[in-house]
Amino acid sequence: MNELLIVACIALVGAVLYLRGQLKLQENELRRLEAAAQTELNRQVTSLERERRRSGEILERMDEGVLVLTEDHTPIRANASARELLRLGSGPLPGRLPSDEVLMVARRALSEKETCEETISLWPSLRSLRIRALPLEDQAGVAVIFQDVTEELRTLRVRRQFVANASHELKSPVASLQALADAIHDAVHDDPDAAKRFADRLVRESDRLSRLITDLLDLSRLEDPVSASSHAMDLSRVARAQTATLRPEANAKGLTLIERIDSGVWIKGDEQQLGLMMRNLLDNALRYTPEGGRIEAQVAHESGDAIVRVRDSGIGIPFHAQSRVFERFYRVDKDRSRDRGGTGLGLSIVKHVAELHAGHVGVESELGQGSTFTVRLPAAAGGERVHP
Ligand code: ADP
Repeated sequence: MNELLIVACIALVGAVLYLRGQLKLQENELRRLEAAAQTELNRQVTSLERERRRSGEILERMDEGVLVLTEDHTPIRANASARELLRLGSGPLPGRLPSDEVLMVARRALSEKETCEETISLWPSLRSLRIRALPLEDQAGVAVIFQDVTEELRTLRVRRQFVANASHELKSPVASLQALADAIHDAVHDDPDAAKRFADRLVRESDRLSRLITDLLDLSRLEDPVSASSHAMDLSRVARAQTATLRPEANAKGLTLIERIDSGVWIKGDEQQLGLMMRNLLDNALRYTPEGGRIEAQVAHESGDAIVRVRDSGIGIPFHAQSRVFERFYRVDKDRSRDRGGTGLGLSIVKHVAELHAGHVGVESELGQGSTFTVRLPAAAGGERVHP
């Protein structure tokens, strides 16, 4: 009996020891699993944190402004562009958005539960913003995205104005051509002398129309920078070619045309555009200098720049008009310009070409004494040929 008890006790102790061993094993396994789970959790938290930082960084660097409002319209997040556009400063966000226009669009998006878009003007910054308000998925607020379209709208306005002006300018020679053609038709049998006079005027008007169309095409080509080349080119050669082309006209008008063109003035640019610029400057000098006058075309290096200068002893430009002559279709004296075959586009072409070549044009002039137009362009280093 005692022996049986001893065996039972041993078996019990053995079972307890075995169970304890099993428990220990399970405990170790549990710890291992716990550690693995903790490592995985840490990894995921780090990755989420990295992701959050990255999205925050992208949001901050976006050109578009991004603003998040709660459902009761309290701003809770704004990136740098939104803060700048809405003048929110860099500190804590205000409890209420200072722009009623933005608030209105955000409210509409929240109540209609759909994206709302609008273009608004901010006061007093006078910036135009295209805004898009998107209700958040959980209806907990609204995200507002802003795009500054001030420049885009300004360009659009300038274009529209230009098209309106160009149409207006084209209308008058076309109307003249129609009227003159009718007059010739009526006079050709009864008054051949008058018909001849009308025909001469018709030729002049069609010349003017053709010049206007050429200038408009030149300007629109300048607006397309893809067509321009930027190779090293000899400005002196271009200037000599243009002066030679216009010399017969200058001689016919009894004008002295002097060339002061230094050799080896190289710049990087588009030969055709620079020829156009030179021709327009010389054309004007010829147009506004009375018989017996003097025109000087100069190309040189000056203070490290390449300069093109056209000086004339012509009628001059009144001081108040000197800053405006580069505007499209601006003329000091519309009738005089028209009588002399002007289109009002020559100097805006000159300005455009100068700016496309990182240069600028200026004018000095005195009424009755003459004018000097100077275009300053970056010279190719040391006047040497530069390879593109
Ligand atoms: P336009 O075809 O009428 O000459 P531009 O754009 O070339 O147009 O010039 C604008 C205006 O500037 C001219 O209408 C004229 O009044 C004035 N202008 C330009 N160049 C000269 C110049 N060399 N001398 C006097 N006036 C000039």
